[in-house]
Amino acid sequence: MLKYPWDIIGHDNQLLALEKEIAADQLVHAYLFHGPKDTGKFTVAFILAKILLCPNNLCHRCRDCQLIKSGSHPDLILMRDNGETIKIDDVRALIHKTNLTSQGGLRIVLIETLERMPIEAQNSFLKTLEEPPGKTIFLMTSDQIKKITPTILSRVRQYGFSLVDEATMRNELSSRFKDHSDFEEVLQMAQGRPGLAIRLLSEPAALSAYRNAYNQVDKILRNNDLVSKFSYAESLEDDKDQLELFFDVFCQILRKSAHDFLVTGSSLLSPRYDLKSIAHLFEHLLKTRYLIDRNANKKLALENFLLYTERSL
Ligand SMILES: [Zn+2]
Repeated sequence: MLKYPWDIIGHDNQLLALEKEIAADQLVHAYLFHGPKDTGKFTVAFILAKILLCPNNLCHRCRDCQLIKSGSHPDLILMRDNGETIKIDDVRALIHKTNLTSQGGLRIVLIETLERMPIEAQNSFLKTLEEPPGKTIFLMTSDQIKKITPTILSRVRQYGFSLVDEATMRNELSSRFKDHSDFEEVLQMAQGRPGLAIRLLSEPAALSAYRNAYNQVDKILRNNDLVSKFSYAESLEDDKDQLELFFDVFCQILRKSAHDFLVTGSSLLSPRYDLKSIAHLFEHLLKTRYLIDRNANKKLALENFLLYTERSL
């Protein structure tokens, strides 16, 4: 049984372990919650911050709870993922801020998507992490733990988060979004990621963007039509959000197809792609994303990838 009102979908083991640490007064000064995007890592970190700052076990009524709610708690420093790189100057400003004398109580620094820090910034951040000023707890999240330096990893307590199983997703979400007409479709799109499901169910614009990306990727996977594929790729070039969505949706469709293949022997991509070609495509998708992340020519990288979606059937 959980003691605190986490209001989180799934991740019971992680929440129980955190509660145990709180109860035994065994918290360390730096945590990294890592795992797939949109699974609830940031929400868990944020609620943990609230639990630690509220003197009444997260009452939602006291001054601390009110200040957190209004975004002005002096002992909570938030670095939300705004899609931007975290530069060394930002890190220095953060360090300066955490060095300012607080009321002497606990101070929490919450950094979403730590891998936004380039390696040099991570190295300069290390000193603060090693010698935290006063009573500071760093709560950090990462979608791609491979991009975090081993020295940082060795100095944080890690909590792994995974995709939430379908039964839990269905159960928890159906009570919150009763009678939502797009419920089943969203459940399929979200694939175990509660954060994504909630966003799609509560923001019509997000759902329509997702649906659009889904249809485009579906078309790419079903047809041999390089001209239209390349023109779609061109439209992604200057739109960071759309490109991100494209990779995300492509990954999900391939992952689901591979899973269905392993369970039932066929998938929504049969007979055009067998398991081997799905794995092959997945590998190229990751490689393309990696190259674009490292400033490769987007048009070339995308076109090259799309060639692999052609089939001689
Ligand atoms: Zn409170």
